[in-house]
Amino acid sequence: MEPSYILALDQGTTTSRAILFDRNQHIVSMAQKEYEQFYPQAGWVEHDAEEILDSQREVMKRVLRDSGVFAGQIAAIGITNQRETTIVWDRKTGRPIYNAIVWQCRRTAPQCEQMVADGCEQYIRENTGLRIDAYFSATKVKWLLDHLPGARERAKRGELLFGTVDTWLIWRLTGGRVHATDYTNASRTMMFNLHSLDWDENILYELDIPRCMLPEVVPSSHLFGTTNLEGVDVPIASAVGDQQAALFGQTCFRKGDCKNTYGTGCFLLMNMGPEFRLSRHGLLTTLTAGTVPGRPEYAMEGSVFSAGAVIQWLRDGLGLISNAEESEFFARQVEDTGGVVMVPAFTGLGAPYWDMYARGTICGLTRGSGRSHIVRAALESIGYQSMDLVEAMEADTDLALSSLRVDGGASANDFLMQFQADILGRKVIRPLIHETTALGAACLAGLVCGWWNMDELLRKRTTDQEFDPSMDTSRRQRLIDQWHAALSQILHIGCD
Ligand code: ADP
Repeated sequence: MEPSYILALDQGTTTSRAILFDRNQHIVSMAQKEYEQFYPQAGWVEHDAEEILDSQREVMKRVLRDSGVFAGQIAAIGITNQRETTIVWDRKTGRPIYNAIVWQCRRTAPQCEQMVADGCEQYIRENTGLRIDAYFSATKVKWLLDHLPGARERAKRGELLFGTVDTWLIWRLTGGRVHATDYTNASRTMMFNLHSLDWDENILYELDIPRCMLPEVVPSSHLFGTTNLEGVDVPIASAVGDQQAALFGQTCFRKGDCKNTYGTGCFLLMNMGPEFRLSRHGLLTTLTAGTVPGRPEYAMEGSVFSAGAVIQWLRDGLGLISNAEESEFFARQVEDTGGVVMVPAFTGLGAPYWDMYARGTICGLTRGSGRSHIVRAALESIGYQSMDLVEAMEADTDLALSSLRVDGGASANDFLMQFQADILGRKVIRPLIHETTALGAACLAGLVCGWWNMDELLRKRTTDQEFDPSMDTSRRQRLIDQWHAALSQILHIGCD
């Protein structure tokens, strides 16, 4: 039977999903399964790596069963995954030596402070594009080697392997034949040198991480190996970190193209092409899947810590709305926020402000302020924070953004998208396929299969809605000034 589908595996932080795409990039079927989050101590977050694999296998089977598609009809599998999450396992048995340490886990913050005190910051920045932070994999691997008895010696003898979630899935799905990752995932480990495109020996030495436990690094679009599905050998043809997958799925192929994903937080990535550049505003430099086969390119990345989380807080913390969609209804009940500004610095503020100690505020309240004003201010806060990120990126890259491509759960909110366009003064484009992350992985796999080329991918791009900026300049400036005034009340350090 002619292979006519690509199966994308989207291994996220809370769910494992499998999405079947046809040659027209239409979604034929989709299955997802939530899995357990472990919080063994304050600030620690873990997943059971076996459960990640089992849930991923289950949804693969389910999506085939639901769609009536046979394994033989699948041209390839593409993998996209939560980034940075760290797994170490036994090469022989394939069993993890500990739970997966999730990107959100803060257990290695003291180790990171030590690295900063040791003067590693500049080297890390210039060579990995990242800030020293517990978020990335490097100190998580070190923690495992330091804390599990005998682990470092076993790793040195070649008995243990490290991988991010893509590598773990590929290892197990290929029956332990392939130990590999792609450039995008490697670039989030804080061990990968963005200039030499190889593991950084100095960082490995500093953290005492044996190189032999690290995977081979290959392009995102690559024939990794095959997995046995219902007795058929199906090629695994891509692996790519979730944010870079969305960038690719949004066809942000040109320098200056930018996408923003509105989930719990926002993730904004701008394509910088083949030129490495460091940010002056605390943004990260990272690798993309690239546009020329086999060659990664660079992106600038920044995130808003609390975006959709603000809407969850309105619902669960304040009880102002009963579901996320309702936020749009209330926001539209009023002409404006009546001067109310919310700064949702629940867990500090990320780029470009970088103030871990800032906490949130709602200011400008009057006796006339009501639920709708507050809900509207909450939605607007997502737009303002994204605007500040875009401006920092433009200043860093000398590139002017022409439009912003959007995705993620909160991008369904038309009020928010129109406000984003208004406050940015730029067009906001929402694609028809919301599953841009899975689509990105599918497209990268499709390139390996020879299904599409880059021009075809651009031609296949679909738009659900475009939001054109329509706010007059003086109002826009007034709102931006109000926002910055509110910000300055809670920042301990100035934003440059
Ligand atoms: P994640 O991948 O981080 O779990 P999703 O992309 O699934 O996030 O989006 C979920 C987030 O988007 C939640 O924080 C939710 O509050 C927010 N959200 C979902 N729908 C809307 C909406 N219509 N308006 C505003 N926020 C929304």
